[in-house]
Amino acid sequence: MPGTNLTREEAQIRAALLSVESYTVDLDVTTSETTFASTTTVRFTCTEPGATTFADLVDATIHSITLNGETVDPATAYADSRITLTGLAAENELVVTADCTYSHSGEGLHRFVDPVDDRVYLYSQFEVPDARRVFTTFEQPDLKSVFTFNVTAPSHWKVVSNAPTPSPSDLGNGNSVWNFPETKKMSTYITAVVAGEYHEVLDTYEGKFGTIPLGHYCRQSLVEFLDRDELVKVTSQSFEFFEEQFDFPYPFEKYDQLYVPEYNMGAMENAGCVTLRDEYLPRSRQPRSFYEFRTSVITHEMAHMWFGDLVTMKWWDDLWLNESFAEWACYWCEAEATDFTDAWTGFANARKQTGYRQDQMPSTHPIAADNYDLEAVEVNFDMITYAKGASVLKQLVAWVGLDPFLAGLRQYFKDHAYGNSEFTDLLSALEKASGRELDSWAKEWLQTAGVNTLAPVFELDAEGNYSSLSVAQTAHPEWPTLRRHRLGIGFYNRVDGKLVRDTYLEVDVEGESTDITEAVGLAQPDLLLLNDNDLAYAKIRLDERSLATVIDGLSSLEDSLARALCWGSAWDMTRDAEMAATDFVKLVLANIGTETDSWGVSRIPTYAAQAVHSLSAPANRAALSDQWETGLRELLGSAEPGSDHQLTFARSFAATAHTDAALADLEALLDGSLVLEGLAVDQDLRWALLTALASAGRADDARIDAELENDNTISGKEHAAAARAARPDADAKAAAFQAAMLDASTPNETARSITFSFHQPGQEEVLAPYVAKYLEAADSAWSTLGAHKASVAMEYMFPRVLASAELLETVDAWLASTRANPGAKRYVLEGRADVARYLAAQERDAQ
Ligand SMILES: [Zn+2]
Repeated sequence: MPGTNLTREEAQIRAALLSVESYTVDLDVTTSETTFASTTTVRFTCTEPGATTFADLVDATIHSITLNGETVDPATAYADSRITLTGLAAENELVVTADCTYSHSGEGLHRFVDPVDDRVYLYSQFEVPDARRVFTTFEQPDLKSVFTFNVTAPSHWKVVSNAPTPSPSDLGNGNSVWNFPETKKMSTYITAVVAGEYHEVLDTYEGKFGTIPLGHYCRQSLVEFLDRDELVKVTSQSFEFFEEQFDFPYPFEKYDQLYVPEYNMGAMENAGCVTLRDEYLPRSRQPRSFYEFRTSVITHEMAHMWFGDLVTMKWWDDLWLNESFAEWACYWCEAEATDFTDAWTGFANARKQTGYRQDQMPSTHPIAADNYDLEAVEVNFDMITYAKGASVLKQLVAWVGLDPFLAGLRQYFKDHAYGNSEFTDLLSALEKASGRELDSWAKEWLQTAGVNTLAPVFELDAEGNYSSLSVAQTAHPEWPTLRRHRLGIGFYNRVDGKLVRDTYLEVDVEGESTDITEAVGLAQPDLLLLNDNDLAYAKIRLDERSLATVIDGLSSLEDSLARALCWGSAWDMTRDAEMAATDFVKLVLANIGTETDSWGVSRIPTYAAQAVHSLSAPANRAALSDQWETGLRELLGSAEPGSDHQLTFARSFAATAHTDAALADLEALLDGSLVLEGLAVDQDLRWALLTALASAGRADDARIDAELENDNTISGKEHAAAARAARPDADAKAAAFQAAMLDASTPNETARSITFSFHQPGQEEVLAPYVAKYLEAADSAWSTLGAHKASVAMEYMFPRVLASAELLETVDAWLASTRANPGAKRYVLEGRADVARYLAAQERDAQ
């Protein structure tokens, strides 16, 4: 077995053989700046004495291995990230002493030195299989155990883990040891250690089952941005909601949330010790959608405390369920219990779109993917897992009803507390509670890939009433499954300048065509909206009259969720080459100024920018770019001072500015000669303006250095790297490419910032060599950069901006001969699919 992989079968064999009683993990983080000392004592039983198994440990220098008092030679026992254990007894004790390596990729134990003040911060990140980078483990979710962590660290540090934080014992040499109490039973991947000069604030939540101690932590340089009151409020609201709805007390002893630097994802549900990216403590003005998203992250991780941490999947096959559930529950909680009551509209405008996009990629897969090994898990951990999964659970809730769904869920928590389960356990609990057979539903929705399209088909009588109305369902030929949908249908008509719903039907749709008999005799409305209320996961089409109504005055539709469905349908039709990119841009310019949903305001302009720069016909592009720039400048000028609209339009205008006049505006905003009332040109907006100027060739290295001097933070360094990468200059591109795609020592978040900024429209000439360079780097990206950084680089460095038939040919030739890792290939295939889509949309726009 090569490298660090682990198959499901190996895990099953090991789980049948072993039962883990306890881990004691001694970590000393004072030994060096590159490694730390790790001693693990694992006690476990074995059902077949004499048998052989293995423990996991990655990237370690092992000093000693002792099994049941006998010394084992690491030179022979430790290979390929595994320690072979032979001659097991019924009761075993394994002790492994090693030095492990700090990471700079956000995987394992990440070490960060804050450039502002040289303070040191560590945090662990273990999902999917990375606890084995920090201590010796049986790394699979169904070998749960209790854990005792003992951590030696400098005395002035904070040290936090899953169990309540003890008072440290002073060792007298400037260091102390934190002897944590034993944890509850849990899987290795949700254990955690966070240590460093973190700032700490402590609160409590008094709930219906008792008191939960709350901690919030961040770097010292972010203390002023820790909006403690808001964070405690959201945390308390979510606890109240989940304890009530799940009817099960919070299952761990305390709840710490630690905002940590250079974090790869949004957050991680370590039991009682949640880590979150510290960009969520923003230093500059952010729109409401930012806080809406942050709230959804907080509620998502909290939902995992029950679903994932208390009851855990047996194997990563059910990773989808873990994430889909937390994702569905977070929006549910957000809408019901926090200030973000329209969270489902935001979901439709932003998150759900990422699921639709992913599901139309050649790499799409059933929600319940066949994760036969850890490499497959890596490949399948995507927006199918999160956004599509959550959408389909939302549909399931509509299918069985919320109350039966909750009844089943409560029983499931009680039956499997502190244990492991499989999807079938949840399904049978839901079947019992709802009385509905769900096996065939699960097959249809979870074991097949692809998204259906639903369109209205109708005939009208002489008076303009429906003599027939049906919903036609189609599927992509490669993913031909037609599904059953619980579907809302809204009839909207103009009344006093507003589009108002006067009829709502909710029906079960099945097969190629479903007659909506309830509609016969009803007048054709100005807007017939399929999937009203957004219960279904499906692409929807507007009929001719409805599309005209939308183009004519989407903003007169008062319901924000109904608007989101119209925005989504128009965007989807544009991506599918059924609506001209030029028309989509017009729709956005005419209606975005009055959009009220925070995600709508933030996200829809990015769709329009994509329509301008990628989906428009080359012959139309220059004119459309000008229109887009002018339109945004006008929207910016007329936006209410201090509003989110103003901030979003400023950012979007900067990102598209290309004429002399627009670039002069950016300069003037930067130097203060142009002041827009209510628009603070704060540090992050300064970087956005400067990056736009850099991209246009108007800000050189010296100017970027000067800005960095005023903002010598990690955030400043990341922004500066992005600004340099944006420059239309061969040397700047070469340096950026080296840093993001070839140099493993570039910190993860810095590399990510570069990849977002490298490919700029209008720089085709200087970017041309990066097709070949990208494909060459792709061959070895996984082994050079590690899974996470390679994924980011492969996804965002794909040269979409050079979309052409020739690019497709080059990529196809590479695909035919490459031996790259499946993960790398996947991103090339997705980039290729985007380009093919762009070319089709460009043709549509040319008509
Ligand atoms: Zn999650």
